[in-house]
Amino acid sequence: MRFANVGGRAALVSPEGRWVDVEEVTGGRVRADPMEALTRLEELRDARVPDDAPLLDSLTLGPPVPRPPKVLGAGINYFGHAREAGFDIPEQPLLFSKLPSAVCGPNDSVVIPAGRMQVDWEAELVIVIGRRGHRVSEADAWSHVAGLTAGQDISDREEQFRSLRQFTMGKSFDTYAPLGPMLVTLDEFPDPNDIRVRCWIDGEEVQDGRTADCIFTVAELIAWASQISTLEVGDLLFTGTPSGVGYIRDPARFLQAGQLLETEVDGIGRLKNRCIAGPEYVTRTYDRVEVVIDASDGA
Ligand code: ZN
Repeated sequence: MRFANVGGRAALVSPEGRWVDVEEVTGGRVRADPMEALTRLEELRDARVPDDAPLLDSLTLGPPVPRPPKVLGAGINYFGHAREAGFDIPEQPLLFSKLPSAVCGPNDSVVIPAGRMQVDWEAELVIVIGRRGHRVSEADAWSHVAGLTAGQDISDREEQFRSLRQFTMGKSFDTYAPLGPMLVTLDEFPDPNDIRVRCWIDGEEVQDGRTADCIFTVAELIAWASQISTLEVGDLLFTGTPSGVGYIRDPARFLQAGQLLETEVDGIGRLKNRCIAGPEYVTRTYDRVEVVIDASDGA
């Protein structure tokens, strides 16, 4: 099954790209709130999109998971990306968080604040959790997955690599997590562990990898993360990016306002996000002098 967010409502999508509102197709049984529909995908198994249903209009699409409780990402998770960056192959998964407020739709603009010069692309397969779980085993991991979607883990490298590494904020500027265009259930993929992931900037291909090149599998990432944090329905797991990101290049390349960023995951579809300039992000340096507090009360 394929789902989209049409104007803020969950829609079932046919292979031909026609869609029907989830509430309408279930006679009101399942509400069309995309987060609520995620918890009831099983009830939609027998639902069918009518042959005369309207075709999807890409301009109405929102992110298929608009309000994820949390968003995790895997760093250095493709052999190709580790090789290009000159990193040792990690022996354990490297996980970070992206703030849920960074999520935007598959055709929304990516807003780059004026003055930010190292904003990079990372095309990724994104796992959508469909069943709550704590300490999930690798063997059970896929049973906690509602489906797959495509995403961009856009990263401000200046912030990410600033003092002591600022991954969370460097990857969490508003609009830095475009998502979509569909959520596709696992039965639609010949092999969910081998899916092609590509990225283009202004039509020039910059990434082309397969998730079979991942260092840690989806099952290993879910098992690892869920030992620490209970996974909730709607949580997202960005699975890492293949080789070809901008900061590794010689010379380095970064996203600029005006460019079209396209991201495609086979079996899911293509995101088309135009980069636009936003208001300046003002940083400053605080020159603080340590004040030594006298702990005695003076009595
Ligand atoms: Zn990433």
